[in-house]
Parts: sequence; C-alpha cells; structure tokens
Amino acid sequence: MSITVYETYTPEETGALGEKLGRLAKAGDVCSLIGDLGVGKTVFTQGFAKGIGVKEPVSSPTFTIVQVYEDGRVPFYHFDVYRIGDPEEMEEIGCEEYFYGNGVCLIEWADLIEEFLPSERLSVRIEKNLEKGFDYRKITVQRMSQIRKRGFCV
Ligand code: ADP
Ligand code: MG
Repeated sequence: MSITVYETYTPEETGALGEKLGRLAKAGDVCSLIGDLGVGKTVFTQGFAKGIGVKEPVSSPTFTIVQVYEDGRVPFYHFDVYRIGDPEEMEEIGCEEYFYGNGVCLIEWADLIEEFLPSERLSVRIEKNLEKGFDYRKITVQRMSQIRKRGFCV
C-alpha cells in the first residue's frame, strides 16, 4: 500500500495534481475524495476530469448525486454525495453500475458513503493548515486495496 503526501499553495497546483492523477486513471478506477467544505475537492475534480480528457465544464452536481461526462477518453462519473439523506440512496441510484462499470468514478464526500465504496480505490484526503497559510493544502493520496483490509500490511 502506498501513501503519498503532496502540499499545494494555490488552486492551480491542486488542479494540476488532479490532472496528473486523472491522466493515469483507467476504466474501472474509483477515486474517493474526502475533505471539509471549501477545501478544494471540486478544484481537484476539475483537474482530474481534464486529465481524463473531459472538455465540458465540471461543477459540483447540485441536484443530482452523479453527473456523467462522456466526452473524455473514458466515461467520467462525478459523484457529490454531500446532500445525500441516507447512504442507502446510493443503492437506489445503482451505484454499483458506476463503481464496477467501464468508466472512471470520483466521489466527493466519500466518507459519507464509506460502506458502499469499493475496497480497491484511490483515496484522496485534502486538508487545510492555517498555520501554513490560507491557501495551503495537504493532499494525502493513498492506494487502498483488499490486501490492506485483510491486515497484511498497515
Ligand atoms: P470543495 O469542493 O471541497 O467544497 P471547492 O473546490 O469548491 O471546495 O473550493 C475550494 C476553494 O478554495 C476555491 O475557492 C479555491 O479557489 C480555494 N483554494 C485556495 N487555495 C487552494 C488550494 N491550494 N487548492 C485548492 N483550492 C484552493
Ligand atoms: Mg465540491
């Protein structure tokens, strides 16, 4: 299992990291995003979508849980589950079709639907640290896998 910590000081740098990871994403990959409101999840997502080759503007899906972008290298499924009332709603929208489908999924506020997340995924956590400046972000990227779940490594 690998953990990499990045530090950014501008929204552009966070977008560029998202783009770099988006470029590496393959069909079937899932990226879960965690972090407080206004920390930069959507900024990261916009870069990530760019890395997939999405040309359409990406914003947080306000009225739907998932927004589908078909104009990239592979389909891109952008979830924002902030307003989800009950995690069971994920089942109602058929999240497995997306998570185990032929596109790339990214889920903002993934911690709210933890139990539905595939165990094989890229987990990204974005945090502020005001001591390091208003625009500073610590971005922890962790490859999650079954192996970790079984406790073979920490
Ligand atoms: P979230 O989706 O996590 O609620 P947004 O991506 O919508 O947050 O907003 C993040 C806000 O923080 C934007 O206004 C962005 O310009 C600002 N910001 C400042 N510094 C950074 C940084 N280093 N990385 C990302 N966003 C930053
Ligand atoms: Mg957002």
